Amino acid sequence: MKTPAEFANHCCSDFPVGLGVQEAIERIVAEAARQPRQVLRLPLRQALGQVLAEDLLTPFDIPGFDNSAMDGFALRHTDLHPEQPTHLRIVDAVFAGDQPPRPLEAGQCSRIMTGARVPPGADTVVMKEQVTVEGEEAVFQPGHQQGSNIRRAGEDLRQGQVAVAAGTLLSSPQLGVIASLGFPEVPVVRRPRVALFTSGDELRSHGETRKPGTLFDSNRFSLEAMGRAAGVEVLDLGPIPDTPAQLAQAMQDAAAMADVVVSSGGVSMGDADYIPSLLDELGEVLFWKMRMKPGHPLLFGRLGQALYFGLPGNPVSVMACFAHFVQPALQVLAGGRYQPPLQLTAVLSENLRSRTGRTEYQRGIFRAIAPGQFEVSSTGTQSSGALSSMARANCFIVLDEDTGRVEAGSTVLIEPFANLVG
Ligand code: AMP
Ligand code: MG
Repeated sequence: MKTPAEFANHCCSDFPVGLGVQEAIERIVAEAARQPRQVLRLPLRQALGQVLAEDLLTPFDIPGFDNSAMDGFALRHTDLHPEQPTHLRIVDAVFAGDQPPRPLEAGQCSRIMTGARVPPGADTVVMKEQVTVEGEEAVFQPGHQQGSNIRRAGEDLRQGQVAVAAGTLLSSPQLGVIASLGFPEVPVVRRPRVALFTSGDELRSHGETRKPGTLFDSNRFSLEAMGRAAGVEVLDLGPIPDTPAQLAQAMQDAAAMADVVVSSGGVSMGDADYIPSLLDELGEVLFWKMRMKPGHPLLFGRLGQALYFGLPGNPVSVMACFAHFVQPALQVLAGGRYQPPLQLTAVLSENLRSRTGRTEYQRGIFRAIAPGQFEVSSTGTQSSGALSSMARANCFIVLDEDTGRVEAGSTVLIEPFANLVG
C-alpha cells in the first residue's frame, strides 16, 4: 500500500482533482443513477417519505358521480325565472351516501347535502344560505349560474389517468390520493442504507476518558442525524483508529452492508490520512478534493456495490459535504430526482470575507424583514472546526467562486437549513 504522501504525489492521472461543486454533484448523481433499485410493496401507512416506484393509474373516476359541493337545493336551471323570485316544490332530501335519488321534474327541487348525488334532471345547486323556505316550497332569487355547486364525475381524476407518478416522494397529500383510489399497498423504492464510521486516533466515545489531545466524536452524531432526517436507514460502525488494516476492514464491512458508505476524517494530506489510497486500492476513486470551503478534501468513489463518500473530519465540513454531496446521491438512490437546495436571496447585514476560486458555504442567520425579503448576518467564526457556528446558524451563505469580499448591503444567496441539514 502507498503511504498517504506517496499516493498524493503519484496522483492523479486517472481521476480528477479539484472539481467545482456543480460538476461534482453531476458526477455523483450520474453514479447514483447507475445503482440498481429494489422495489417493495408497503402498506400505505408505512410509505410516508418513500418514493413511488411505479405510476399509479386511476382505477375509476374521482369523484365517482356528480355530487353537490354545498348543503343546499338541487334544481333544474330552466325552472328559474331570470328576473323574479321562483317558487319550487321541495320533493326530496338527498344525503351523502344515499343511493341514486329520484329524478326531478319541472317545478320541483330537492334538499341536498354536501357530497350527495345530484338527482337526475337537476343541473344546479343553490346554497342553503341563499334560499328561503315557505312551507313545502323553496324560494330562489334570480341570478344563479347554471351548473354551479356541482362537482362533476371525474373532474379531479379521470379513470386511466396517472394519479401519482413514479419518482414522486410520498408525503401526506399523495398518501391521501392513493387512499382515495382504494390501494391499501404501494410499490416504493427501498430506502437507501448508509453505513458510516468516523476515523481518528484522537476520537473518544461517550463514557470514555477525554485525555489531553483527545476529543469526543461528534461527527457520528451529526451524520446519523442528517441521515435519519433524510429518511434513510443508518448503520453506525463506530470510531475506527487511523490504522490502515483497521480502516480497510471498516471500509469493506461498510460497503458490504450498505448502498452508501460515509466516513469522516483521514482524507487530507496528513501522514495518517490513509483513506484515499485505501479506496484506490480496494475500490475506485472517482474524484478527490473540491474547489470549496468547508469540505475541500472530499473524496468520492466506489467500493464494491456501494458509493463511497470520504468526508473530511472537520465537523462543519462533514455537515456541508453531507448536505451538498451525499444528499443528492440519497435522493437518487431513493428513487427520486436530485433536488438542488432551495436558495433565496438575502441582504447582507455586515461585510464578509471570502476567497475567489472556491465556493464558500459560510454559516449565517437569516430572518424575514418583510414578506419575501430576508436579511442575513454571519455567525462569526468560519473555522471548519467550529461546530457551534452550525448550531447557531439557520442557513448557509453561498459565495461562489468569483466572489471575494462582499460588502454589507449586498444581496447574497442563502440556503435555509430546513430540509437540507435536518
Ligand atoms: P482529519 O480530516 O482526519 O484530518 O480531521 C480534521 C479535524 O477534524 C481534526 O481536528 C480532527 O480532530 C477533527 N475530527 C475528525 N473526526 C472527528 C469526529 N468524528 N468528531 C469530531 N471531530 C473530528
Ligand atoms: Mg484524522
